[in-house]
Amino acid sequence: MSAQRKISAQVQQQILFKSKRKCPICFVNGVTEPQQGDIAHINRDPSNNSLDNLVYLCLKHHAELDREDGLNVDDLKAARVALYDAVANEGAQPMSSAPEWRAYEDQITEYVRAEFTQRLDDFFKLEKNALYPGRSGVSHEVDLAVEFTIGGLRYVTIFEIKYRRAPLGTQEILEFSARCKDIGADKGVVFCSAGFSASAARLAKDQGISLLHTNRNTEASELTTANACVYVEARPKGRPEGSAIQAYVVEDHAGEVLGTFKTQKEAIDWAKANGHPPLVARVRHLNDKKIPDHWRSA
Ligand SMILES: [Zn+2]
Repeated sequence: MSAQRKISAQVQQQILFKSKRKCPICFVNGVTEPQQGDIAHINRDPSNNSLDNLVYLCLKHHAELDREDGLNVDDLKAARVALYDAVANEGAQPMSSAPEWRAYEDQITEYVRAEFTQRLDDFFKLEKNALYPGRSGVSHEVDLAVEFTIGGLRYVTIFEIKYRRAPLGTQEILEFSARCKDIGADKGVVFCSAGFSASAARLAKDQGISLLHTNRNTEASELTTANACVYVEARPKGRPEGSAIQAYVVEDHAGEVLGTFKTQKEAIDWAKANGHPPLVARVRHLNDKKIPDHWRSA
């Protein structure tokens, strides 16, 4: 009897990357969609965490594998080879079907519009396939651009929307980052339908680029934090000018507190260090986030 060892995160990621969460047995039987499932030990020995002994399986086929008379191990390994090959090949080239990527672009555009409307009402301009002159003299066409002005300052966020079957790599992030800098954008955001490679994610973090996986609403908060200004406010809230201030909070547009600080300077420094342009109320008790005139850039 061997002891169970935890499968390392790196190995898990590798398996999920190779399989795209598709079950090989389902796959060879014509079901090509990702399945809910988990990683199984092919030889039923939980201490053997070699890549060869691990496979992502749907719950039904995992249960079948765990039965003594269940799945044939050789068949399972052959199915896994077929699946890994198919996944690797479909990632080799961008998808050709135009309507699918167009639908994805439209979906993301509407998602971005809804997110900004929620936070800025109609105090923003959204443009598809916008043309921006770069400092280099080259003009760049960007998939989507959002501009808004708060406290007299204009903020430009540009979006790259990639419809792919394979995760986006570092090359595309580098190119996008260079374009953001040339345009002078305040924020760059990349959406990719297939996610991002680990090295691309590291690079993006380094370059201040936000990566968003899909249009799923669960990731709305990431979009918010990706580009949003934050509001530095004194506490207690709404007290008249001159009353004692106990603390300063940094809030997002929805009023969620991101941090509490002793001094206004600490709050402003924290916001800047985290990539959020900080705004402070022009007059302390006038702090309606929906009224841009109440705020000035810190
Ligand atoms: Zn299955």
